[in-house]
Amino acid sequence: MQKFYHILNYGCQMNESDAEHYAAQLEELGYHKNEDFRQADVIVVNTCCVRESAEKKILGKIGELKNVKAQKPEQIICIAGCMAQKDGEKLIKKHPQIDLLIGTSYVNSFKEILEDYLHDKHVRVHTEMLNNQDSEFEGERVRENGFSAWIPIMYGCNNFCTYCIVPYVRGRERSRSVENIIEEVKRAVAGGYKEITLLGQNVNSYGKDFGEKEAFAKLLKEVDKVEGIERIHYMTSHPRDMSEDVIKAVAESKHICENFHVPFQSGSTRILKEMNRGYTREKYLELIKLIRKYVPNAVLTSDIIVGFPGETEEDFLDTYNLVKEVGFDMIFTFIYSKRSGTPAAKMEEQIPLAVKKERLNRLMELQNDISLKLNQKFVGEVVEVIAEGPSRKNDKVWNGRTETNKLVLWPIEDNKFEVGQAVNIKIETAQTWILKGKALV
Ligand code: SF4
Repeated sequence: MQKFYHILNYGCQMNESDAEHYAAQLEELGYHKNEDFRQADVIVVNTCCVRESAEKKILGKIGELKNVKAQKPEQIICIAGCMAQKDGEKLIKKHPQIDLLIGTSYVNSFKEILEDYLHDKHVRVHTEMLNNQDSEFEGERVRENGFSAWIPIMYGCNNFCTYCIVPYVRGRERSRSVENIIEEVKRAVAGGYKEITLLGQNVNSYGKDFGEKEAFAKLLKEVDKVEGIERIHYMTSHPRDMSEDVIKAVAESKHICENFHVPFQSGSTRILKEMNRGYTREKYLELIKLIRKYVPNAVLTSDIIVGFPGETEEDFLDTYNLVKEVGFDMIFTFIYSKRSGTPAAKMEEQIPLAVKKERLNRLMELQNDISLKLNQKFVGEVVEVIAEGPSRKNDKVWNGRTETNKLVLWPIEDNKFEVGQAVNIKIETAQTWILKGKALV
């Protein structure tokens, strides 16, 4: 009898990377992937707790699994990831359908934990944080994407931004060695992956834990030398730790993409201090200047939180004007949401939702305008994209991304494309978030 698994993944790229490890361990135990979670013998819910809305959605899904399990009592429900780490046994008390609870330190021990459970079917809880865990150990992966591979270079975060739960659920920074990372990059490239994304909560502090100076820049240079690699991305950067040597490494490299995702979160120095971000508005703008000095065509993107406790209209205008001044290609905007256990959740002067929404809308309108104008500059240009496959809405249209992560759509007409293929597209029209054109074949 075949056994099946299903992974419900939520949250960031680090979770996607962890999910690849869960899948590999389940396959080692003889389970096969099933698209329908109702048919699965093992369901892994890989959770995220970065925002309240994400948590609510996940709790709803865990509730739904109770009914699913009632129809299939042998089904094993495993809750993994950041919520499991944060809420621990509280989750099992509320949701007795849970069989395994796996915190963020146990991703690579999942196989043993599951085998252990299968012995006696007693609930297993593994949520003790192992800050000294061996960060070198990276097990096998089952990747969904055929051309783009995540490679974690470090785990955890030491920054304690006052709104963020990550340091509490992912522990302190632990970097993998250069040799270990390069070995995994080479394996991925040999397996046909052309695009590599180096992952960490704050990649710019890579290597600080082993006292190495300019470690991230050195790592980037090593990855750039790997034979056969086509594109290198990295995320996420922190403006306080982003240094000249990294920008130079990007400028001098052959394969590191010239898009800089540098989350500034707020344009107000006062709010940045409240957030414990460790830089000022002026320092951030200096960093942007430095990026543009070495990489004049850099594509800049950022994350912004609107409505942090105590944010006045003046603070918000500092954010608004910074967006205008820099002219980002894209911003990812978030309404501040309280995360219990973080200092900001206890701050007075929480901003009413209606005010937060109004500020968010103003910011999005501004950004839409900027993005459209920047995209219009591509009309008539030829860009190289890596083909990702048919568009979700129309299988006669394919999509791919440029080196700087711009989404491009083109009709396939009579041509055949392969996922991962490099295709030259002549851009004909530009929209706010999309470029459309024709393939030159
Ligand atoms: S740098 Fe700040 S926002 Fe980013 S993961 Fe660390 S604590 Fe969270």
